[in-house]
Amino acid sequence: MTQLVSARKGSLTPEIVKAAAREGAQSGLLLKEVAAGRAVVPANMNHKGLVPCAIGRAFTCKMNVNLGTSGLGSGLKKELKKLELAMQLGADAVMDLSTGGDLPKIRKEIIKRSTLPLGTVPIYEAIKRGGGAKGISRQLLLEVIEEQAEAGVDFMTIHAGLLRRHLPLAKGRVTGIVSRGGAAMAKWMELNNAENPFYEEFDRICAIFRKHDVTFSLGDGLRPGSLADACDTAQFAELDTLGELVKRSRAAGVQVMVEGPGHVPLDKVQMNMTRAAKVCRGAPFYVLGPLVTDIGAGYDHITAAIGGALAAWHGAAFLCYLTPKEHLGLPELEDVRQGIIASKIAAHAADIARGLPGAAERDLAMSKARYAFNWERQFELSLDPARARCMHHEGMAKNAGLKKKFCTMCGPDFCSMRVSRTLGRRVAA
Ligand code: SF4
Repeated sequence: MTQLVSARKGSLTPEIVKAAAREGAQSGLLLKEVAAGRAVVPANMNHKGLVPCAIGRAFTCKMNVNLGTSGLGSGLKKELKKLELAMQLGADAVMDLSTGGDLPKIRKEIIKRSTLPLGTVPIYEAIKRGGGAKGISRQLLLEVIEEQAEAGVDFMTIHAGLLRRHLPLAKGRVTGIVSRGGAAMAKWMELNNAENPFYEEFDRICAIFRKHDVTFSLGDGLRPGSLADACDTAQFAELDTLGELVKRSRAAGVQVMVEGPGHVPLDKVQMNMTRAAKVCRGAPFYVLGPLVTDIGAGYDHITAAIGGALAAWHGAAFLCYLTPKEHLGLPELEDVRQGIIASKIAAHAADIARGLPGAAERDLAMSKARYAFNWERQFELSLDPARARCMHHEGMAKNAGLKKKFCTMCGPDFCSMRVSRTLGRRVAA
């Protein structure tokens, strides 16, 4: 029985209890939200050792880390190190987007080690096995999906919303179709002069998902890849189909979330979130960024975090991190670290703005530790303690610096907090 079917029956599952406890929420609230489709708990029955999490607006905003090999770089060992780092830095989910090497073997190793929910994009493996978009058959797609579900994948990106009638709408775009799965599906439809097989086989995919309790992450194959293409008719036509698929997934007893844009200017982020929530009837919205400018190459973890914070404030429940390497190459370990922290800052900032109970407690503790010059406590409370510690020690003697009531930023004479702490005190003559 899926989490959704159990929740509708009012029956608490161990996964719902654990996911709620993880963030100090009432399990009854999560049960209600899952039953209504406003939250999901991705938890494939075959994923042993999973620590489940709740993704939905009533809970803290979650963030995902993409990892995986490409045909031109990396390997299993390197990607497993990224997974380890993601778990260490408190990521909420990972997606294996591998396109190079032995994909089933890579996925198996990642699932074995990942306590985080794992997502995949099955069309990548279908393209590899079919030798390109042309070689994909409906049977192959279903086989790949079934195999990945049996292997324990918790959520899958399924590009079922991009239809033949949408393709002409994307013709005049500056950056065309930037989703890898979306571009491959568009090519397949053109070559075969046929409708999107994910869409046509949707009921059979639902049956596979229901059997193993895999959560849909409905892919936005037409997400804008530039500010110029944001909010165009192609993007919103696909969104309408995604709304229809949300209804069908729920009717089949399968949990569903929806993927969102892409590149969106700051002033259009809120409108996108509101529209998606309405069209997709409150299904958790999972955004890639959004990037609020196109010129941040080398720093796109920042452009994405700006858009992510705003998106999460106004409706998104799940952020996909971006690294400084976005648009430029396959990320290395340090890029992954920077991407995770940037995304966690965005998610946390939104939780505070939304007034989630307890969200600002850690910030208050940090401020108190700062004013008390309690350096160890500050490191402990920061999102990346190792980096905070290392930066503090630069220019300060490692141990002696921890006792100082100032740092190298202003020095003892100009340390405003040091001066502030003496205000009102009598100065001895
Ligand atoms: S020296 Fe400046 S930055 Fe450092 S603790 Fe004092 S006020 Fe803060």
